[in-house]
Amino acid sequence: MSPKKFDVLIVGTGPAGLGAAFKLAEETTLSILLIDQENISSGGLHNDCKQNYTFPIGFPLECWTQNLADHYLLQVEKYLKPQILPRENIELYQKRAEKVDSKLISIRQSHVGTDKSKYLIEGLINDLKKRGVEVRLGTELLAHSYKENNEITLRDKKSGVEENLILKHLIVAPGRKGFSFLQDMMNLMKVPFVDNVLDVGIRVETKVEHYPIVKDYYDPKFLFPKRVRTFCTNSGHAQVVKEKYKDFFLVNGHALSSDYGDNGLVNFALLKTIGLQDPVRSGQQMAIYLARLCDEIGGGKPIMQRVGDFRMNKRSTLESFNNDLYHFSPTCPVTAGDLGLVVPSKIMRDLWNSLKLLDTIIPGVLHPSTIMYYPEIKMYANRPQFLNEHFLVRPGVYMIGDGAGTSRGITAAWASGIRAAEGIIGAAAT
Ligand SMILES: Cc1cc2nc3c(=O)[nH]c(=O)nc-3n(C[C@H](O)[C@H](O)[C@H](O)COP(=O)(O)OP(=O)(O)OC[C@H]3O[C@@H](n4cnc5c(N)ncnc54)[C@H](O)[C@@H]3O)c2cc1C
Repeated sequence: MSPKKFDVLIVGTGPAGLGAAFKLAEETTLSILLIDQENISSGGLHNDCKQNYTFPIGFPLECWTQNLADHYLLQVEKYLKPQILPRENIELYQKRAEKVDSKLISIRQSHVGTDKSKYLIEGLINDLKKRGVEVRLGTELLAHSYKENNEITLRDKKSGVEENLILKHLIVAPGRKGFSFLQDMMNLMKVPFVDNVLDVGIRVETKVEHYPIVKDYYDPKFLFPKRVRTFCTNSGHAQVVKEKYKDFFLVNGHALSSDYGDNGLVNFALLKTIGLQDPVRSGQQMAIYLARLCDEIGGGKPIMQRVGDFRMNKRSTLESFNNDLYHFSPTCPVTAGDLGLVVPSKIMRDLWNSLKLLDTIIPGVLHPSTIMYYPEIKMYANRPQFLNEHFLVRPGVYMIGDGAGTSRGITAAWASGIRAAEGIIGAAAT
């Protein structure tokens, strides 16, 4: 049987894939197939779903300018219909930050919550189906199947049935978890790429009374010296979570919607951006080594340490997590241990100095009970060498989203999808 034909195959139902699908469905009559290897989009649209509508949050400067981002953010807003959260007393915190050579950026932001985001995704997918897009979930693109004439093979993960397709255009948006998949595709297509940036850090968990800024500003973005920043703050019903990768775990955080009430806790990431230079081969490999070291020392789990123990230069133990001095239980009970053994000292020093600065801006965050979880690592960029501003990497093939380093967040990923779609629309018009 000869392979079925589609004008466009979009791989990944994350925001990058959805952004492309909506633009193409609205403005063309092309036949579009949208696939995902999972049964629901597995990225941040599903987890927590905080949307940032202010440049440069989530927009890598290598791919975006303020004007470009502002232009596309207006379109993203049209689809995601965010309810922008209020921000109070920002100037007070900004002044305090400036005094210690730091900065607080004020962001237009909305928050959906992990429990509600699935309804948002379902609504978007149903909308696409109504517009004629064929959607297949639980279906993966096999990286090694790619052939020069844009012929590829899909596999239904449940039945194992494979199907060959021929495409005019392929948009690959596999997200962070799709790094190795994307690398395999780039190697196969001989697309050069750089992989030299990663963020390494910790997730901090404390009581809201020790970080009350979240009552004024849901996800405050502080920038500290040495490329350290706060990222992805959660409060309300906030939880730290483990994310499973092939050989290790990373930590992350999210919050449920306001329907779930308040558990009195807040968590946020404190990340240091590392830009590797020759002769280092791969940021991803560095991330994997760091995470595996922690996995080894943590007995197959991430490590958590109370600030009080860290200050006294001693490891945390189960006793550090009792109800006496340390008056809240970890929401993600992993291995009580010593971050000093697993975080490279340069990184730990910069993170700790930033925490001290944060504690002068918001006194209390370094309460002895505050917990630091490690590793929180963001492996971003397998950024291909793009042939044009639409993220084309070879004729008919576009690579976008967090996996390809065109975004670092939901809104920028969606905007990347629109840019790739515009490339296809432009190509169809010529
Ligand atoms: C736990 C967590 C919480 C986050 N919270 C936020 C947040 O609150 N706000 C924010 O702005 N950002 C957040 N992020 C980051 C955000 O998820 C990403 O910036 C965004 O989702 C990137 O979009 P994407 O479309 O590039 O990739 P993704 O959203 O990751 O989507 C990629 C999709 O491709 C699929 N896929 C991969 N390989 C294949 C294949 N071979 N075949 C078929 N399908 C494939 C995956 O299953 C996945 O569904 C979070 C990330 C995580 C992991």
